[in-house]
Amino acid sequence: MGKVAINLVTGSLQQEETIVGIDLGTTNSLVAIVRGDTHQPIALKEIDGLALVPSIVHFDVYGNTTVGNPARELLIAQPERTIYSAKRLMGKSYQDVSHDAGFFAYNIIDDDTDALVKVQVGQKFYSPIELSSYILKELKKRAEHILKTTVTKAVITVPAYFNDAQRQATRDAGRLAGLDVLRIINEPTAASLAYGLGAKQNEEKTIAVYDLGGGTFDISILTISNGIFEVLSTHGDTYLGGDDMDNLIARFWQETPGEGDTDIGIGSSLDRSLMQQLRITAEEAKKHLTNNEVFEGNINGTAVRITRQEFNDLIQPLVDRTIESCQSAMQDAGLKNEQIDAIVMVGGSTRVPLVKESVSAFFGKEVHDSLNPDEVVALGAAVQADILAGNNTEMLLLDVTPLSLGIETMGGLMDVLIPRNSKIPTKAGRQYTTQKDGQPGMRISVFQGERDLVQDNRKLAEFSLTGIPGMPAGLPKVEVTFLIDADGILKVSATELRSGVAQSIDVKPQYGLTDEEVEKMLLDSLTHAKDDIKTRALVEATTEAQQMLDTTEKFLTKHRGLLADEEVELTQNRMDQLREAINAKDKDRIQQETEVLNDVSRPYAERVMDAALKDAMKGKKVI
Ligand code: ADP
Ligand code: MG
Repeated sequence: MGKVAINLVTGSLQQEETIVGIDLGTTNSLVAIVRGDTHQPIALKEIDGLALVPSIVHFDVYGNTTVGNPARELLIAQPERTIYSAKRLMGKSYQDVSHDAGFFAYNIIDDDTDALVKVQVGQKFYSPIELSSYILKELKKRAEHILKTTVTKAVITVPAYFNDAQRQATRDAGRLAGLDVLRIINEPTAASLAYGLGAKQNEEKTIAVYDLGGGTFDISILTISNGIFEVLSTHGDTYLGGDDMDNLIARFWQETPGEGDTDIGIGSSLDRSLMQQLRITAEEAKKHLTNNEVFEGNINGTAVRITRQEFNDLIQPLVDRTIESCQSAMQDAGLKNEQIDAIVMVGGSTRVPLVKESVSAFFGKEVHDSLNPDEVVALGAAVQADILAGNNTEMLLLDVTPLSLGIETMGGLMDVLIPRNSKIPTKAGRQYTTQKDGQPGMRISVFQGERDLVQDNRKLAEFSLTGIPGMPAGLPKVEVTFLIDADGILKVSATELRSGVAQSIDVKPQYGLTDEEVEKMLLDSLTHAKDDIKTRALVEATTEAQQMLDTTEKFLTKHRGLLADEEVELTQNRMDQLREAINAKDKDRIQQETEVLNDVSRPYAERVMDAALKDAMKGKKVI
């Protein structure tokens, strides 16, 4: 807190704000943050104590929207105006969803093209992006209300199997809701992060993430190595989840008359409100059975009852199907069950004891279930948000270099080896040479930033290449190599190619820089671009002049006998002029005087100049 950020677009200052993590779920959505004081992720809860916002949008006849629980209550009463599972439509065409059309109680437009689907409510049409944006707006509003500040930045999660179109649609929904979506991350990755798996450097883990939500199931096998998550395989069933369990219970009650022999209507067409009650009570029973052996309730005056054992028998085939998916995912990943280091349970339906036991038995290990399974994805998104905010430097999750990396060359110039936004891992190298005769070492200073002068950038490291055998200036060939490996560590090495003398150093380039600092550095480079060009030109002219002076000076001491007295005098005169120009920091004059001195001395130099030296000086920069 207390930091100030600069908006790169407007150039205005803005107070640092919390970046939120959002789980935009098929059934429920929620928003989480990492607390500044405890550094723990927490789901944001309204006074009602509920973090989950049902992913349901209701439109009234005037087109006004309600989102969440109030909308959910209208699901059965007004099916054509109450939109659920919009996530299933994200980034899809009608052709993509046509075979599932029966699932949706609302009207999906069949325009028989491969354009993106729209949902019709009354006379209006809504894209899934708009529908999702209503949910995101609600989450944003909630977060702002709870945090008492504006919220404009978010990390949003998507299933690992989401394709580019679906991810882009999610991003667009965020933008439409007034959120700057800093990153889209995979739900299983988020869940692993919430448990702190793979948080440490040099940690390698293979993780199975079992996600059983309201209407979807997926299993993902991930590896995490040095902060880089890789999805090895995913499997699942997009129409299998907790809702199916509810339906099984509802049918069970419909088919088995209650003890008081009051029938709630086997197979008959229940009226909508009764239907609604039946579903709600069924879900209640399912949740109750998580911690109890029997549920007893009442629907419209009729007693209903179900035991844990009866429930388990009902859902056994469902659970078996998820285990088969796990088997397939493991096969696709080419792994044996004992190679899994951790199993993460995600989704409200993993609270069901039979589910937990079956998954644990399949992998032969205890599952990670200490975090709230319907919050864990949002919590992980918040952890990622916290990393992006620069608050968590212990963890690294990098994919591109945020700023350019380079070394200092003669005159304090920044010579970029790896430009910003390069994908990692990446490698770059360049040759440099010495400035002085017999120079035994070379100082390699590594900088990060966009400015032309290193003094305006951030120094990351410095080391010396020593033991270069005595050679004339310009002759050594020092190859400097930058390598950023997959774990984000920059390795800089320098080798003098003629002698083989080598030296290297490891640098952690991104550590300690917040997004705001990166932004500021980029902004600086824009506002100072003109100054920088001028300075660079001056520095380059000075460097060249200095080299010219050194070479000439050296020549004069070495080959004094080859020159006439007038020649020596003239040369020294021109050298003084050039030195004056350098002191005056007058770029044009420096260049002019350099040329004059060059013209004067070229004829002598040509007399003796070592061909090898001339050669070596060509096309190489001097450190
Ligand atoms: P999604 O990821 O699809 O948005 P969630 O992870 O929020 O879904 O899971 C919602 C499902 O979890 C619902 O079917 C809900 O009934 C179920 N659920 C929530 N709590 C429990 C519980 N205690 N026992 C069993 N199922 C539960
Ligand atoms: Mg989910």
